[in-house]
Amino acid sequence: MIKVSGLRKSYGTVDALRGIDLHIRMGEFLTLFGPNGAGKTTLLKILSTIIKQTHGKVEIDGLDISEAHYDIRKKIGVISHKTFLYGDLTARENLLFYARMYDVKKAEERAHHLIKEVGLDGRENHQVRTFSRGMEQRLSIARALIHDPNVIYLDEPYSGLDQHAALMLRNLLKNLHTQDRTIIMTTHNITHGLEISDRVVIQLKGQIVFEDKTSNHSTESFEKIYFEKVGGQA
Ligand code: ATP
Repeated sequence: MIKVSGLRKSYGTVDALRGIDLHIRMGEFLTLFGPNGAGKTTLLKILSTIIKQTHGKVEIDGLDISEAHYDIRKKIGVISHKTFLYGDLTARENLLFYARMYDVKKAEERAHHLIKEVGLDGRENHQVRTFSRGMEQRLSIARALIHDPNVIYLDEPYSGLDQHAALMLRNLLKNLHTQDRTIIMTTHNITHGLEISDRVVIQLKGQIVFEDKTSNHSTESFEKIYFEKVGGQA
């Protein structure tokens, strides 16, 4: 579903990605670990067509990201630190705005369903600027799913969520993890990263230094590997 070959990205003199090769199949859930500055967000931004790579190639569902921005954006949903929400609009209006952008059928129904799913029922007609950070994060999850994308990127999605919201997100991700959906998540939390993924990758200084099936690891064994790989080099 996603093929990344020889991917490099430089910001001036900073080499954020130094040759990433990664194949992710349809239906796979991959968790990307790595210390601050490893290049995880940069990788997800390139895969989302938000920024361009310096070298290398990415194909999503057979489409080259350098050539098919619009078609690729329709297939993906992104949950990141940025909520991409409008403070002056209500929760419902925000979702309807994105629904129109993606030409979603039965938009009212879909928005209502998602607001309920992320636990914001009762607040749908409140302006987003009155929301707490966790509530905004919940709504941004609904926003990312409005067009039912079959590729989902989550960049540290648990940050800012309380325990209930974290549980809601975990259950939502479990439901989203189907045969025809591909999910990539970055997190610094080893428990969250292992609990629903199929494969784990450790990125360090713009390169992949470890990858394996999640089922081969317990939290303890993976934590040990993580610190062996990253310790002292981060
Ligand atoms: P974190 O875990 O802290 O979110 P990360 O693994 O997501 O980190 P990136 O945000 O991708 O890392 O950053 C990788 C490197 O690229 C860092 O050295 C960072 O300073 C640099 N970088 C990222 N964005 C820019 C930018 N717009 N301009 C210049 N340098 C950048």
